[in-house]
Amino acid sequence: MQKDIFSTTRKNIIGISIGLVMGTLVVFAVITQTLFKESLLDDVDQQLLTHKNMIINDMHIRYLNGKVIEVTLPSPLSKEIINYVWQDGQLIKNSPHIYKGKHTYPIFPKTEGIITIRDGEYEYRGIQFRHEGLVVQLLLSVDSQINAIKQLRKALVIAFFALTLVGLWTIYILAKVALKPLYKAYYKQVEFIQDASHEMRTPLAILRGKIELLARNPKDTIEAHYHEMAGMMSELSGLEKLNKDLLLLSKEDMKGIVQVEEIHLEAFINELIDFYKEVAKLRKVSLVCEHKEALQGINVYWDSIKVKRCISILLENAIKYSHINGKVTMKVQVEERNIEVQVIDEGIGIKKEALSKIFNRFYRSNEVRASGVEGNGIGLSLLKSLAYTMGIKIEVKSQYGKGSCFSLHIPKKIKNK
Ligand code: ADP
Repeated sequence: MQKDIFSTTRKNIIGISIGLVMGTLVVFAVITQTLFKESLLDDVDQQLLTHKNMIINDMHIRYLNGKVIEVTLPSPLSKEIINYVWQDGQLIKNSPHIYKGKHTYPIFPKTEGIITIRDGEYEYRGIQFRHEGLVVQLLLSVDSQINAIKQLRKALVIAFFALTLVGLWTIYILAKVALKPLYKAYYKQVEFIQDASHEMRTPLAILRGKIELLARNPKDTIEAHYHEMAGMMSELSGLEKLNKDLLLLSKEDMKGIVQVEEIHLEAFINELIDFYKEVAKLRKVSLVCEHKEALQGINVYWDSIKVKRCISILLENAIKYSHINGKVTMKVQVEERNIEVQVIDEGIGIKKEALSKIFNRFYRSNEVRASGVEGNGIGLSLLKSLAYTMGIKIEVKSQYGKGSCFSLHIPKKIKNK
């Protein structure tokens, strides 16, 4: 299916582009040939007109008893010029060049001006005019010009096919290159949907099992199945969280809009810490906040909801992956351009080989999956997406079995997008 979409699109792109290239080449060839032909024939016509003027100014006629007995024409500019002089339909002079043999003469229309005359495979430009009662016809062969035009036409045809082939190859490569990111994005989307449905499969199977168990004992009280009900609630809230996280992630990937406002850093940090202290307490973990500098009076320009979400993801993980009675420390440091927020835990830690994968969507380490700690593997990929939108730098250090340290370098002034 995906192959069909992309191969059809590629074929369409190639078809339209090559059509355009061929069309452009044809137009170019026609224009070139027309201009070339016009410029060559212009030269010939110019010669004919110059010669006509010379004849009008310089033709000598001798008469006897009103009849012309001798006509002397000025010597022609070009030896190629053929001339005929007629009086009352009688040829009285012509140049040594005989058009079509001895007794066949060119036929001129009554209208004046330069015309093209064809004689078999030969072609001429010709002009006819009246002067002193005589009709003068001038012809000039354009065979060499026609040959030059034919040569040009041949060259244009060869260039047309060569350029079409080169164009076809180039367009094929370009179409491939242009479609590659689309293909990648499409494949990523498909993978994302597959992963998401895979993630939902386990909780849905658990829910189905528990509901089937309840359905088999319709007369039982709710109390008798308290454990199943609690389990169902927990699976349902997991699914709800997954649904919410996926929506947030796709929104972030699509839009990534930042709404910056002025924030008092101390109040912002205190609010977060107060909330997560309670969460940590429920899990028997202690949460402390350390900062060398006084945060009072420091104002930052942040999208409070998004920055809060980034830090929350780290705090939730640190609490989740800590041992009972463990300690989580949040350190805040004021840097020149950034605020550094570090979330340090002494929990399960991350194996070296897993460090490069933890920001991938749906990634959860095998140990974490096996441990039954709730989660869906979306948190850190959402953090990565949010950090990219806001220009936040993330650093991770971890030692398996000893704990982890996640650092965020948040610009004091996040740029509006
Ligand atoms: P979730 O926590 O829902 O599984 P996350 O995307 O937040 O998803 O984290 C991905 C994985 O990275 C976790 O499943 C876990 O394996 C690992 N991880 C993240 N934070 C920590 C941490 N503080 N300590 C140990 N492992 C962690």
